[in-house]
Amino acid sequence: MPEYRLHAGPMTLALTFDDGPAPASTAQILATLRRYGVTATFFMIGANVAKYPDVVRQVADEGHRLGNHTWSHPDLGTLSAARIREELERTGEAVARAGRTDPPKLFRAPYGNFSTASLAVAAELGLRPISWSVDPEDWSRPGTDAIVERVMTGARTGSIVLEHDGCLIDEAVPTPGGPADRTQTVDALARYLPQLVDAGYRFAAVGP
Ligand SMILES: [Zn+2]
Repeated sequence: MPEYRLHAGPMTLALTFDDGPAPASTAQILATLRRYGVTATFFMIGANVAKYPDVVRQVADEGHRLGNHTWSHPDLGTLSAARIREELERTGEAVARAGRTDPPKLFRAPYGNFSTASLAVAAELGLRPISWSVDPEDWSRPGTDAIVERVMTGARTGSIVLEHDGCLIDEAVPTPGGPADRTQTVDALARYLPQLVDAGYRFAAVGP
């Protein structure tokens, strides 16, 4: 079964960012995390890793944890075990090469669809399946205020917060207001992170 909660002690939660890396927004998110000394986890799409290896390297160098989010972000419920294995292995190798690190040990299924086949393949590959417990739906660009409010309302000990630094529909320079525009995610993080710090929360990467 995928993990929905973190077990890292009282007032500790995890921030996770999916669908990157993205040149426009990942660096801004890293800068905010750096300002507060916070470590997060980034579940990357292999196709974006291949396009932006320098961004992967920066995420790894700044001490964040890297996760495998498949190569092409398919619904894993529709794929055979062999195709799922291909998606995960190819991504693991690309992340390791770009980040000059070991292949990720964490796996998150696109759309949270941890199909039976995907869990079996993940187990074979030694990948730990990680879900989430707080979803502000930042990908839908509901407004910065809404994202801040949803994170602050949902946050508690053990929360795994889901956000998106990148997009399946990648654009190096995102169209403002378009699907790859992560301005709201970036702005919301800069607002709620100090609030969480002030409330006494600590932050951990997902996994062991
Ligand atoms: Zn995703």
